[in-house]
Amino acid sequence: MKKVVIVTGAARGIGYATSKIFSERGYTVVAMDIINPSKSEMDFIKCDVSDENDVANAVNYTVKKYSRIDALVNVAGIVVVKPIEETEWQEFIKVVSVNLGGTFLMIKHVVPIMKAQGGGTIVNTASVSGHVGQIRHSIYGATKGGIISLTKSLAWELAPYKIRVNSVSPGSVDTQMLRDDITGEAKRMNMNFEDVKRMRESEQAFQRWADPKEIAEAIYFLSSDSSSFITGTDLLVDCGWTAK
Ligand code: NAD
Repeated sequence: MKKVVIVTGAARGIGYATSKIFSERGYTVVAMDIINPSKSEMDFIKCDVSDENDVANAVNYTVKKYSRIDALVNVAGIVVVKPIEETEWQEFIKVVSVNLGGTFLMIKHVVPIMKAQGGGTIVNTASVSGHVGQIRHSIYGATKGGIISLTKSLAWELAPYKIRVNSVSPGSVDTQMLRDDITGEAKRMNMNFEDVKRMRESEQAFQRWADPKEIAEAIYFLSSDSSSFITGTDLLVDCGWTAK
């Protein structure tokens, strides 16, 4: 029987690359997002991870169609890049609801299925911003720090049910999210995009950004039996950023 994985934020970027790797390696992938994927070789269902009705419906859809959920990969996320005093309450609520709230809601609705079937794996997406201070990323970083803490607690809470819970913390990954972030930074600093890009590349020891596939491989590893003794871990995929 094919294993079944749910990937959120699967329409593009890291989520899309992750869906592709699972699909190539024999999983049935249920891809979830609020926007339509540009390519659709996966089973796609619209789902806003910050809306509990959407999440419950999407999880029910998966179980009705495929009977099980072996792996959950929470990738959906948004960023707000602003000085603290310019950050609106509604922006705070939004980023917390999607990043931390969406991760919570997906786990809440998938865990009963994994418990009933006797196990499973969960991989959450944190960030270097959850480890080190990043200027104008304070609220975003707080959600990512929260995801790392959530991961550790749930690793212990769910271990008796053979459910492993881990997270990945990417450095800079070449996606729409990062390119939008750099465009905003370039405007704010009155610099051109390429100069800001070079500055942000230099935070990685190899002086480049990751390809989304390089993060997807780490997520796949943490979801596979190759990591059977790993739970409660945050895997930094940051090319040395936080080692400096
Ligand atoms: P992206 O913007 O390219 O993709 C994110 C996807 O999530 C999009 O398809 C978007 O539509 C979806 N999404 C947003 N809100 C959603 C919601 N409420 N419900 C469902 N889907 C939603 O970004 P990315 O760079 O691929 O980021 C993926 C994850 O990786 C995020 O959690 C992000 O914080 C994290 N991350 C990214 C980087 C980076 O440098 N790109 C670094 C560290 C961590």
